[in-house]
Amino acid sequence: MTDRPVLRRCVACRQLLDRRQLWRVIRDHQDGVLLDQGMGRSAYLCPNEDCLEEARRRKRLQKALRCQVHDAVLEALDQRLRHSTEESAEAN
Ligand SMILES: [Zn+2]
Repeated sequence: MTDRPVLRRCVACRQLLDRRQLWRVIRDHQDGVLLDQGMGRSAYLCPNEDCLEEARRRKRLQKALRCQVHDAVLEALDQRLRHSTEESAEAN
């Protein structure tokens, strides 16, 4: 038996994707807004520049999570994007 993918909707482009392909941003009831893991309301975002920018400009994460999302969270995702781009450039 194969696992059926769990689909989640990106808060920026509204596409349904396998949640393993998406970034997860969690509003944790204790620690505020976290990435990847935590307990609480979650928002999902495609790991690409367009969706990150759209989320940033239109405050999509804030709206989805119904709380303030620190710039640091978006910065962290931005950094992650840059690193993954560098890695794939090296692989080629
Ligand atoms: Zn997206």
